[in-house]
Amino acid sequence: MSQKAKRSLGQNFLVDDSVIQRILSAAGVGSDEVVIEIGPGRGALTDGLRSRGRHLICIEKDDGLAASLARRYSKDDSVTIVNGDALILKPEDMPVPGPYRIAANLPYNVGGRITMHLLEEWHGHVLSATLMFQKEVADRITAAPATKPYGALSVLVQSMAEAWSLFKVPPGSFRPIPKVQSAVVRLKPRETALWQGLDYEWFRRVVHGGFQARRKTILNSLSLANGLPSDAEVLRAALTEVGLDPGIRGDSVPVEAWVRLAAALAR
Ligand code: SAM
Repeated sequence: MSQKAKRSLGQNFLVDDSVIQRILSAAGVGSDEVVIEIGPGRGALTDGLRSRGRHLICIEKDDGLAASLARRYSKDDSVTIVNGDALILKPEDMPVPGPYRIAANLPYNVGGRITMHLLEEWHGHVLSATLMFQKEVADRITAAPATKPYGALSVLVQSMAEAWSLFKVPPGSFRPIPKVQSAVVRLKPRETALWQGLDYEWFRRVVHGGFQARRKTILNSLSLANGLPSDAEVLRAALTEVGLDPGIRGDSVPVEAWVRLAAALAR
């Protein structure tokens, strides 16, 4: 269990028992539920999650850590270690069917991408996800319109899930000690995404286009984006149709208005 921490895999291991206990209670695991822990590492959260649910699946990319955990739980039928990549694995790859309660102290470098993968590819299989991120990413995920961190990640995540910021965690709670603050977020996937009925790739393109040039107006930012109408009059008409002033910036547009705008631009 004592191999050196790998920066490339975002390995900052939790050593603060009070934080571990807070994450375990926040995960809200029911005794008949199947839990997935992403990136169990040296197992700081693992025993606690195991004792709370019916079955625990651990997805760990690091071969050495996955092998250690597999040895540790070799006699426990209620734990399965999957040595794989959470950015690629899908519900059908899991050894026990869901729905799943997910908990994780996510690797900083891929926290946002793992979250998007869960929301895009695991729809209908996740009850909730209680996830720790670098605080800056947690702020972006949970941001409200017209705040600094509000951007494409906020809109895309919140279009598919309700998101709450739960608590901050200081660098001293980890080894090695990271340079940044962390924060725990709870996500509850929506039964139906707000963009339902639209093509998701289109919705994503419109949102990214609207935030592409953050300092410009939404009209200018959209007109510079690839794969969207570049004609200012077409864009102006769509913005006006859905009640948005073409002179505002993308960061003041609420999630539901992005959906209406994507629908108008698709017509
Ligand atoms: N859960 C442990 C803890 O709280 O101490 C470790 C957390 S550490 C921040 C992130 C863990 O995720 C590491 O064990 C790392 O090897 C693993 N990891 C990194 N990238 C991964 C990926 N793409 N899929 C699955 N696990 C990954």
